[in-house]
Amino acid sequence: MIRAIRGMRDLLPPDTERWHQVELAAREVFRRYGYREMRLPLLERTELFARGIGAETDIVAKEMYTFTDRHGDSVTLRPEATAQVVRAFLENGLARTAGVKRYFLIGPMFRYERPQKGRYRQFHQINCEALGSDAPELDVEVILLLVDILREVGLKDLRLLLNSLGCPVCQVDFRAELKLFLFDREGWCPDCERRRGVNALRVFDCKSSHCQKLLEGAPALIDFLCPDCARHYARVKELLGRFRVDFTEQPRLVRGLDYYTRTAFEVTALGLGAQDAVAGGGRYNGLIRELGGPDLPGIGFAIGQERLMEVLPAAAADVRRELVFLAYLGAAAKDRALALLGELRAQGLAALMDFDDRSLKSQLSLADRLEAAAAVIVGENELQEGAAQVKWLADSRQERLPLGELAGCLASRLKAHG
Ligand code: AMP
Repeated sequence: MIRAIRGMRDLLPPDTERWHQVELAAREVFRRYGYREMRLPLLERTELFARGIGAETDIVAKEMYTFTDRHGDSVTLRPEATAQVVRAFLENGLARTAGVKRYFLIGPMFRYERPQKGRYRQFHQINCEALGSDAPELDVEVILLLVDILREVGLKDLRLLLNSLGCPVCQVDFRAELKLFLFDREGWCPDCERRRGVNALRVFDCKSSHCQKLLEGAPALIDFLCPDCARHYARVKELLGRFRVDFTEQPRLVRGLDYYTRTAFEVTALGLGAQDAVAGGGRYNGLIRELGGPDLPGIGFAIGQERLMEVLPAAAADVRRELVFLAYLGAAAKDRALALLGELRAQGLAALMDFDDRSLKSQLSLADRLEAAAAVIVGENELQEGAAQVKWLADSRQERLPLGELAGCLASRLKAHG
């Protein structure tokens, strides 16, 4: 038997149905906020991510699925969405469109990480990107949007962590101070040993608990903010308070990508264990220019769908599908059932039947195992009387319904039950 690749999961029913509900809810919130969907390729040129994420990040240094295609070009399965949203934005001339450009994107991402609970090599994200304004009000809009989605899908115990990463101006002094701190201590892991020389900020997202311990007492960017960045951060916090969004300031939060500036945030959820971040995001004011575009600011977030599904309340047990199963007895009834099947489907009901002329008993047992809500029984008697016996499988209640009104009657009863 050939097995799936490590870290890549099959998503099957009924989980796919719960995923679909979550995506529908997210789409509805995006619609209310005026965000529109982008669907982009899974493969991009490797240099897009190398430049757009930063060569020293874990993602680019060791987690990308990169290969050479038949033409000899280096291509990479997207590990995140922001760089490619910016690429599509620039390539399609969207920078010239009016106002703040608001987009969302839902789909799989690929990172060659060590698989564990909550961490996969193919995982899925719901992404949001808003390009074209540096106003702190936009930061707050994006955070409110995120919180709205998470609440809408039923996430209860969430915690919003907030930080400001300043701008390149404030980062100069901070990096110098941080470097002194890092070189003052020994015992860093080989990665951090290298990072402290080339990109000190990245030490903060080291996954080793030893390095995290060594970082205690490290300088915090928040103490180095220039007046503009400090004002921006203060306004974000003030507005979050006004909209009654609780947050915790987290000075160590730097996020795993090089291009973040100013507001950075993460949402964690209780009950997820070590990988407790459900969503993360922040401002990336330097990225669009870095990728060859105009000097436009941007902000966004990504929700990890696997982790979100993990913390959502489980679906109620023994929920029947909104499915009608047609059982028949004899050749004439089979033909009538086939016609009914078409009618039910045309009326928008989900309907199934078995074609293999099994006994009524085994057809009803199949209906039950398929978790159908109702079984409709069509036999000689029913044909003569123009009515069918309907059995509601959750409680075995039975009733007779006229064949001519079957679809309408079933639809109204299913609605009442659902
Ligand atoms: P990032 O793009 O690293 O900021 O990640 C955003 C969100 O995606 C995280 O908060 C996680 O919920 C999710 N995520 C990131 N990497 C993985 C992974 N390897 N497996 C599952 N979810 C992930």
